[in-house]
Formats: sequence, C-alpha cells, structure tokens
Amino acid sequence: MKKQKYTISFYSFTSCEGCMMNVLLWLAQNYKFFRENFVINHMKLLMADSPTKYGEDIAVVEGAVSSKKQLSEIKEIRKNAKILVAIGSCAITGAPSNNRNFLDDEEIRYYVKKFKQLEKVVSIKEVVNVDYELMGCPISVESFNTLIKQIIEKGI
Ligand code: SF4
Repeated sequence: MKKQKYTISFYSFTSCEGCMMNVLLWLAQNYKFFRENFVINHMKLLMADSPTKYGEDIAVVEGAVSSKKQLSEIKEIRKNAKILVAIGSCAITGAPSNNRNFLDDEEIRYYVKKFKQLEKVVSIKEVVNVDYELMGCPISVESFNTLIKQIIEKGI
C-alpha cells in the first residue's frame, strides 16, 4: 500500500527568517524522510514564485504580524490548515520583531500610517489559535525535527 503523504507549507511573516533558515537546514539533513512523508504546498524560500493555495495538513509559520494584510493572511491560513505550528520567538511572543512597539517616535508613526501597518506588532499566537509552538531565536534544527516527528506519530 502506498504511504500517505501530508501537505505542508512554510510561511514567513515579519521576521529575520532565521528560523526558516534552520527549517531549510532540517530539510537538507532529512531529505529522504521529508520526501517519504510530505509534499510542499507553499514555501517561498525554496520557490520564489511558490503559489499560495491555503488548506495544507501542516502550516509552519514564523514571524510576527505587523500589517493588516498579514493579519488577514494568517487568519486565512488558520482557517484552512489542519495543524498550525508557530516557530520561533517572533511567532510566539512577537519579540524581537516587535521592537517598534516600545518606541514613541514621530518617524515610526509616520511610516506605520504610510504603509498601513498595525499600530502594534503582535505575535501569531495573539491573533490565531496555535496547535504547536516551538520556542527559540532561532529554533534549533533538532527540536524542529523532534516536533515534526511527534506530530506525524500522533496523527493528523
Ligand atoms: S525568532 Fe529570532 S531567528 Fe526566528 S525569525 Fe524571529 S528574530 Fe529571526
């Protein structure tokens, strides 16, 4: 019988993308396991023109939410994904990508308005329900590997 494969997506919000770099490293180190278990639905870091088709089994999300556009996107991802995994401190606490929240600066307020940013940068956890979270800045390759395997073992 053919083994079931899960669809997986990797989304980056406001961040340095350091956590996703370690996901890429994990992918390279576990390529055989990955190919046996997953099909990529969306990953801009690997494919710049990666289409966005929400509705994957696992959505892995890094970064904080800083604009109205991002807020509606994360809600759409949450609505359609079976499992949402928040990776890294930005996604879980907002920091360090939320630094501007602590500055009372005229210039920052100007750009917040000009680029339709949210008044405050918020974490993924603050705006949608998260099924799993993995702390770190960045996350470690080993802990991501353990978590992904736990999710598969538990079943989706
Ligand atoms: S948690 Fe740290 S390493 Fe990960 S995206 Fe945020 S700033 Fe970058």
